[in-house]
Amino acid sequence: MSEDHPTLVPIGEDFPELREPVRRICAKYPGTYWQQLEDEQAYPTAFVEELTTAGFLGALIPEEYGGSGLSLRAAAVILQEINASGCNASQGHAQMYIMGTLLRHGSEEQKRKYLPEIAAGRIRLQAFGVTEPTTGSDTTQLKTRAVREGDEYVINGQKVWTSRAMYSDMMLLLARTQSADQVKKRSDGLSVFLIDLKANIGKGVDIRPIKAMINHNTTEVFFDNLRVPASTLIGEEGKGFRYILDGMNAERILVASEAIGDGKFFIKKATDYANSRVVFGRPIGQNQAVQFPIARAWAELEGADMVCRRAAALFDDGKECGADANIAKLLASEAAWKAGEAAMQTHGGFSYAREYDIERKWRDCRLFQIAPISTNLILAYVGQHVLGMPRSY
Ligand SMILES: Cc1cc2nc3c(=O)[nH]c(=O)nc-3n(C[C@H](O)[C@H](O)[C@H](O)COP(=O)(O)OP(=O)(O)OC[C@H]3O[C@@H](n4cnc5c(N)ncnc54)[C@H](O)[C@@H]3O)c2cc1C
Repeated sequence: MSEDHPTLVPIGEDFPELREPVRRICAKYPGTYWQQLEDEQAYPTAFVEELTTAGFLGALIPEEYGGSGLSLRAAAVILQEINASGCNASQGHAQMYIMGTLLRHGSEEQKRKYLPEIAAGRIRLQAFGVTEPTTGSDTTQLKTRAVREGDEYVINGQKVWTSRAMYSDMMLLLARTQSADQVKKRSDGLSVFLIDLKANIGKGVDIRPIKAMINHNTTEVFFDNLRVPASTLIGEEGKGFRYILDGMNAERILVASEAIGDGKFFIKKATDYANSRVVFGRPIGQNQAVQFPIARAWAELEGADMVCRRAAALFDDGKECGADANIAKLLASEAAWKAGEAAMQTHGGFSYAREYDIERKWRDCRLFQIAPISTNLILAYVGQHVLGMPRSY
């Protein structure tokens, strides 16, 4: 961005050695590619494969397991560049971070078996089954049950909004192994399983696509007496909620960085258009009512970026980062949305023309205020855990 706008210098583009090659790959997948995928409700296989082959989606897997062993900040930069380039990181981002639960809590045998395959792209692990239709944000009350029978678990239940399940070989599943009325803490009695989705379709697993406002390849997944080996359990039975929490912080930081990428995309588009579109005999960007919303959105994006960097730094240092990860996601999702609004308004009627990609990105970007966690739930976290007010739910 700074090359085109010498005065528009971001707070420091760290990891230029990652940003440049990511930009080069993304340049091969212009707006027309994403528009066509939307028309066909299709998955960006070529794009995701190229990112995988180049090693970007294995960024967080340690080198000893075949990955690049990069920091969370480096991974955040990769995803940010993808979105800033007009592409959509969400179609592949989960391949980066879902494996974190396996890495941190899996047995050595599980790690040796799966991580090198995931790093090489031979196994896709990018489906994360948490949300359920009847419990929503109240995750600890989820109802999918896994019951131990000999050397197996039998799984019954339903997940909703399980993204990319049709394009994932495996799924990280959160299920209840002990009844909610038998546990001391709400978060007890939940367990994490790494299950083979592909092999079980039609044998206890049914995946149904959800038609959605964006091309997110999201689905409902039904489990009907699915039998999985007991060896698919990650870590100890009953401790699954804790295992996925640290992964959720990583996810929030990465998603915040994607939102910042979207914001950069919007600001670049908006400033270019504001400078070049001439109405009433002058560039529209000369009008403060056009210029100021773009400038304000940029300022807010810079602020969100700072918190995002701090959250990643804490995570990379192994320090508590829950508050920063949540706040980064909150601020980045809202700053990106404001940038999207500024870009919409600046483009006037042309923001509705698909070829400009503003409307596609605007629809994509709205999601960050809802998933993977909604704004209210973040505010509840800040109110309770940061400011010490009573739990509100
Ligand atoms: C496109 C898409 C992709 C997704 N991908 C995945 C995925 O891959 N895996 C997965 O597990 N999930 C996924 N999700 C689910 C997503 O994480 C949830 O939609 C999100 O966490 C919100 O849950 P909910 O939709 O059930 O909303 P609800 O929990 O029903 O909440 C609805 C609204 O009420 C508010 N609310 C609820 N309770 C309170 C309260 N106590 N105080 C204040 N406000 C409250 C919420 O903030 C929200 O605004 C995806 C969702 C979408 C839309």
